[in-house]
Amino acid sequence: MKILCVLYDDPKGGMPKSYPVSSLPKLDKYPDGMKLPTPSTIDFKPGELLGCVSGELGLRKFLESKGHKLVVTSDKDAKGCKADKELTDADVVISQPFWPYYLTKERIKSAKNLKMAITAGIGSDHVDLQAALDNKVDVVEVTYCNSRSVAEHIVMMILSLVRDYHNQHSIVNEGGWNIADAVRRSYDVEGMHVGTVAAGRIGLDALRKMKPFDVHLHYFDRHKLPETVEKELNLTFHDSVESLVKVCDVVTINCPLHPETENLFDEKLINKMKKGAYIVNTARGKICNREAIAKALKSGQLSGYAGDVWFPQPAPNDHIWRTMPNHGMTPHTSGTSLSAQARYAAGVREILECFFEKKPIRDQYLIVKDGQLAGMGAHSYSKGSATGGSEEAAKYKKK
Ligand code: NAD
Repeated sequence: MKILCVLYDDPKGGMPKSYPVSSLPKLDKYPDGMKLPTPSTIDFKPGELLGCVSGELGLRKFLESKGHKLVVTSDKDAKGCKADKELTDADVVISQPFWPYYLTKERIKSAKNLKMAITAGIGSDHVDLQAALDNKVDVVEVTYCNSRSVAEHIVMMILSLVRDYHNQHSIVNEGGWNIADAVRRSYDVEGMHVGTVAAGRIGLDALRKMKPFDVHLHYFDRHKLPETVEKELNLTFHDSVESLVKVCDVVTINCPLHPETENLFDEKLINKMKKGAYIVNTARGKICNREAIAKALKSGQLSGYAGDVWFPQPAPNDHIWRTMPNHGMTPHTSGTSLSAQARYAAGVREILECFFEKKPIRDQYLIVKDGQLAGMGAHSYSKGSATGGSEEAAKYKKK
């Protein structure tokens, strides 16, 4: 079989010769008891770069020893790109949300042998799910592999926005010491109302991680959490996103991108938020309206916006979120720490082993199976496509 793997570029100076930390902590299981990935073995050292082209998700030895062909590229957007050429006879495509190969309807149609799209990470919105359903292409992701990595990033961003870390850090880098400039937008989070739109694996973990800061916690989700969890965290449930945003000082967005959530945070909803609230969005860029966010930061309706997700990716060099005031954006990194890479590389191998041996893939990993939303897909997504406009990613020029 032919496996096409689309990964981000290597570091500019080549693969690292050494890493800051000598070994990763060993985790036994995820918080709800779910097992970490269980491939038969791995051919990489956890803690090394795996998500870039030379890292190859640690898959080459395994795939070639079984007689499969592995093609790895980062060239994924412009017309005539290598990924499009290789896709036409690929059986499996692997892509990461950080550097998504947008599997649009046209691309899925061009891939006559395609049986499965694997997301090395979580969030399969870069696949036109409607086209996958219609063409019976299975879609799977490595559920839980980086949920807690993202929750850590959310806490970091909430604190850094509210305390105005980015401004203070740049004052130091510029050789300055003006304390008044450094603190004129700086607050404590203690006592604030913090809410999550969606309380799945990431949203719930972010709530748990924020609890020790003595904040009031809120959530909105299409599935209600068990009462025991609501009590333990003293959560206020909202039956609509409008109800949540009206009372929260900080809103974090943690639902998948699908037709129900695309453009959810438009100008109308942002104007219903508390004046001067903060948004941390590590879910997907397209859940927030690009222009409305920039406008709200300029007017002061929002005091800050942070996260790591953009649309499309890579974000064009002139994407307005790169230059809007009071933002704490990073490129899409929260779910691809070296720790997370080890888990999703192992998870991809587990999925491929099941696929080749015709064993069932874990239900928790399934988004689309046999032309139906299945497993996590049925729980967290809706039918349709959210890939429209992704061709704009070709505008990005490497720096
Ligand atoms: P999850 O499936 O455990 O949780 C998703 C939650 O969203 C579920 O509780 C679901 O009920 C809820 N939901 C879905 N549609 C909704 C709607 N219309 N309104 C309200 N709630 C809705 O997934 P997770 O592990 O928590 O990940 C969530 C998302 O975060 C992913 O789909 C992905 O887009 C994003 N993510 C980003 C990164 C990153 O690196 N930035 C990494 C992992 C995941």
